[in-house]
Amino acid sequence: MECIFCKIVNGEIPSNKVLENDKFLAFHDINPIAPIHVLIIPKDHYEKFDSTPVELLPEMAEFIKEVAKELNITDYRLITNNGKGAGQEVFHLHIHMVANPNGKLLWPKL
Ligand code: 5GP
Ligand code: ZN
Repeated sequence: MECIFCKIVNGEIPSNKVLENDKFLAFHDINPIAPIHVLIIPKDHYEKFDSTPVELLPEMAEFIKEVAKELNITDYRLITNNGKGAGQEVFHLHIHMVANPNGKLLWPKL
């Protein structure tokens, strides 16, 4: 298994976990671009947003809301880079959750 996020899911690579359930995992990005930068992934391997079954997305949305509660934040930005041309580097679907609870979010607004 070459995928680093699959390795994080199965514990081969350590991560700083925020929340998990049977289907999803949230962990802190190793190279944060904001005071809070968490990655939210399905435990099953899907390359990117475009190749993820739509049926999974409502459940993922619920999980994302639970992650925000766990982090005690109400204001945050969600991003997913779908494909190399969009900046995707890890080809296991992940949603970036970025926030700055104490001020302005400096990551460029799209
Ligand atoms: P992408 O550019 O694919 O949307 O984002 C990949 C993200 O994964 C980057 O923000 C990068 O810092 C993060 N990342 C890459 N490798 C690791 C790792 O081994 N552990 C953690 N926690 N984050 C990683
Ligand atoms: Zn994977």
